[in-house]
Amino acid sequence: MMVGVLAVQGDFEAHGRALARLGVEPVYVRTAGQLDRLHGLVIPGGESTTMLKFLEGEGLFDAIAAFAARRPLLGTCAGAILMANEVSRPAQRSLGLMDMAVERNAYGRQVDSHISTVEPPAEFASRAGAGPLEAVFIRAPIIRRVGPAATVLLRHGEDPILVEQGRHLAATFHPELTTDTRVHGLFLRKAAGP
Ligand code: GLN
Repeated sequence: MMVGVLAVQGDFEAHGRALARLGVEPVYVRTAGQLDRLHGLVIPGGESTTMLKFLEGEGLFDAIAAFAARRPLLGTCAGAILMANEVSRPAQRSLGLMDMAVERNAYGRQVDSHISTVEPPAEFASRAGAGPLEAVFIRAPIIRRVGPAATVLLRHGEDPILVEQGRHLAATFHPELTTDTRVHGLFLRKAAGP
């Protein structure tokens, strides 16, 4: 199986290491042509405006949109912002793959980065494995609305933090920064699918 990690900016190498822990050698994607043979693509955390400019400049925005119509994406933090269908503070263009509205940098200055332990609900536990999950948030967005096309798999308090829509997954936290491989495992099972 070949899985790409968008390697424009941000913490793409941490995603590469997370995939490697699950036995998948990552392909670091910088050009549209690299998408052709991939089974899935990770869009990492970082700075979504910077990534967006690069994607638009290199023809990768349209290429990723076309790729996402047939193969799964996992977006974390900035990646989740790029996948949402509505982005605020400030508004910016996005791929519109997930029926959700995200507000950027929504935790405010005092708590802009934190680690929280979340207790997965039964559905996540049965699909990915039970037990508490450490969620690392770094200047994270908050998902303010999830529409009917999407399903919340994990919450932190009331806030959705892992959302699924069809083949895609979007997380506002950074599963690549802990040794817990459950989120990447879920994604790889999607990537392995038809
Ligand atoms: N604050 C960043 C943004 O709006 C996201 C932060 C992250 O990916 N860790 O793009």
